[in-house]
Amino acid sequence: MKFEDVIGNVPVKESLFRMMEEGRMGHAILFVEKDGGGAFALSLALAQKVNCTGPAGADSCGVCPGCHKYGKLIHPDLHFIFPVSKAKSLTESEKKAPISDYFVEKFRNFALSNPYFLEQELYDALELDAGNAGISVNEARDISQKLSLKSFEGQFRTIIIYLPEKMNVPAANKLLKLLEEPPLGTLFLLITHNPDRVLQTIRSRCQIVGMIPFSREEEEKAHGEFRVNPEYASLMETLLEAGLSKKVIDTFPVWETISAKEREKQKEFCIYAEEYIRNIFLYSNGLESLARIPAGMDSTIRSFSGRIKPTFYRKAFAKLEETAAAVEGNANAKLNFCDLCNQLLLFL
Ligand SMILES: [Zn+2]
Repeated sequence: MKFEDVIGNVPVKESLFRMMEEGRMGHAILFVEKDGGGAFALSLALAQKVNCTGPAGADSCGVCPGCHKYGKLIHPDLHFIFPVSKAKSLTESEKKAPISDYFVEKFRNFALSNPYFLEQELYDALELDAGNAGISVNEARDISQKLSLKSFEGQFRTIIIYLPEKMNVPAANKLLKLLEEPPLGTLFLLITHNPDRVLQTIRSRCQIVGMIPFSREEEEKAHGEFRVNPEYASLMETLLEAGLSKKVIDTFPVWETISAKEREKQKEFCIYAEEYIRNIFLYSNGLESLARIPAGMDSTIRSFSGRIKPTFYRKAFAKLEETAAAVEGNANAKLNFCDLCNQLLLFL
């Protein structure tokens, strides 16, 4: 992938380019993004650029042998680490100590088809158990072994670590040794959704680069139309109806259903709810053309837009962000979602 093909984040691309030009780029960068915020695509572009043998410039050439292999994610000096779990597709011996390499074929196809993937989409595509997916010491051992060999053909070996916050302590400690004394010509690109949960010792070894949230237009380019999740849509409809008619009792099945789900699904619901409410907001402000609603959903959204007061939106967004953060922080799920429903009801 070339820089020019990465959606949004122009100032971030420019600052990376300046860092390269001025020789200020370190051997480890920690990208901080909101789920699906483009850091993976940008990491691919950066890895391709530093290994491009084409003419010098702000972008990779896209046609040299290095670019060709990076474009297909098959360059032998490009490695991926991401959270994994004991998936059904693994053999019995692989299940004993699953590592990213066992999934690499599927991962390549998945990431090529959607470099702006969401965390949950990755788990779904690789049939991973989101609740148990993590980066173990076996992974750190594997990468340490790979790095002890000479690079195959590139100038740099690039290791893209997706979600270092999912590393357990032994893995983080082993990786830390590599970050402290990296073999020559090694570039670590880490992507986090939650920098506070990345071990401080790891963070302190990285240059931190914050991704700029997508504009509405960029968001649509990256993630397409709002993807309807019939279950979540029905929960939202029940919740908003309960709130508008002030029937607290009708919110019970909503928070009971969500709080019984695993944490990744709870976070997914918060993102969905935010997007659902944002679409109502756009409709209520005559900005229907900006809404990402598939046909069939617009009459529901339109009906809500006329009944919700303007002060609702800002408060609802803040509460949903707070709820998602509490899921991360291992809050009691029932209390967390009961509180969310009660608050939304009060805001309506
Ligand atoms: Zn090239």
